[in-house]
Amino acid sequence: MTGRALFLDRDGTLIEHIPYLADPKNVKLLPGVRSALIHALDAGFALYLHTNQSGVARGYFTLEDAEACNRRMFELLALPVGFKGVKIAIEGPDVTNGYRKPSPRYINECIARDALDPRLCFMIGDNQSDIEAGHNARITPLALLEGAGAKESPGWLDFLDRHRIPAFSSFPEAVDHALRACEIRF
Ligand SMILES: [Mg+2]
Repeated sequence: MTGRALFLDRDGTLIEHIPYLADPKNVKLLPGVRSALIHALDAGFALYLHTNQSGVARGYFTLEDAEACNRRMFELLALPVGFKGVKIAIEGPDVTNGYRKPSPRYINECIARDALDPRLCFMIGDNQSDIEAGHNARITPLALLEGAGAKESPGWLDFLDRHRIPAFSSFPEAVDHALRACEIRF
């Protein structure tokens, strides 16, 4: 049961995608997210949040604003077990040696620190950078096709096809897939 984890994008995956979200009042959970995460926790998965927030580097809002939005999301989720890790990548797109996805740095650090089993770890997101981060960390990426991020990436479907990345129309379907994949593997 141990060593399982879901790495989760925030905007367009767990909550509604609002470009450069900075006001906690605008945080809205996407349908089915809360119950899917409860199922994952029940199945022994640890949860990690990995969100790119280049708005901090761009000076559009502060790290504290991003943290306040996270807090509001956690409040709305009201999960019985909290997230095991949270990374807000504040770098702009020009920085490649930080935590900004598609860098696998955060995922790799969590795998090492928390003794996760990469075969039982998944990255769920609606943007090519999420999927590439999971791919680069050699865990299983699961793509959400309906998020705003997917619609902004022109080469997205080709990339998914080329790397045979499973794709889903909703977050609960992706989580179900992760749960079933772990049951089959172990
Ligand atoms: Mg996203």
